[in-house]
Amino acid sequence: MERYIKFEPSKQPLYDEYNKDHMYLFNEDRLMVEVKGEEYTIPNREDLERFKPHINYLQCLGAYNGINCYCGEIEELVAGNYKFIDLRTYSKNISHDDFLISAKALLLLDYVRANQRCGICGSKMIMKVSGNDRAMICTSCDHMVWPKTAPAIIVAITKEDKLLLAHNKMFPEGMYSILAGFVEMGETFEDCVKREVFEETGIKVHNIKYFGSQPWPFPNSMMIGFTAEYLEGEIKVDNDEIVDAKWFSKEEIPGKYRKSISISTELIEWFLNK
Ligand SMILES: [Zn+2]
Repeated sequence: MERYIKFEPSKQPLYDEYNKDHMYLFNEDRLMVEVKGEEYTIPNREDLERFKPHINYLQCLGAYNGINCYCGEIEELVAGNYKFIDLRTYSKNISHDDFLISAKALLLLDYVRANQRCGICGSKMIMKVSGNDRAMICTSCDHMVWPKTAPAIIVAITKEDKLLLAHNKMFPEGMYSILAGFVEMGETFEDCVKREVFEETGIKVHNIKYFGSQPWPFPNSMMIGFTAEYLEGEIKVDNDEIVDAKWFSKEEIPGKYRKSISISTELIEWFLNK
């Protein structure tokens, strides 16, 4: 039977079978995986220990399906069939859960790496030991820093039987996506949807509904997905980020967007299957 809570966050290991611990080790932002034929797997503690690897910033993430998970930084590949792989490439061959855990691992490691010194007094920071919360605490002035994430909205806007897709100047020729943008400090998600859509395409929307969310570790974001309906206005792109935007019918969409593990793909496919 599938567990109700599959991932249990914890600063300490939750299970006793330490040799099974999954080790998410990164070189900068590339994950070390073991290559087994066509598959990439996460090394476990037992496999790695014989190489006596030098690991920095080792942290317990918690446990997934009863197996402790750790993250850390490793400078060199260990001997054997291992390689470093970026998470975008890794995401193409794995389950959504595996992607989320590797994302958690990189997010936690980045947070620990980026908070080695106190932003107030410059002294050494360490992981807080007491309590269940994960915070870096200053060894001199007790300033604490909790993990931070940058929320961004992503929205599928429909007008009758059509979906709004936009071409960003960074995209390859002929490729489109739904609209997205970072939430400003002190802004609600709904206000952000209205503002981003209006700034980028000049149209107004209503019936904004929550769709789902996805942590996005490139480098540290949380995508909050919405659907919305066209209210009024003519498309007028900002020509800054967005250079083209159009209403597409279901028949016109295949081949015009990049399929990936992202919530962007999920939202487009939600429309296609509507
Ligand atoms: Zn301090």
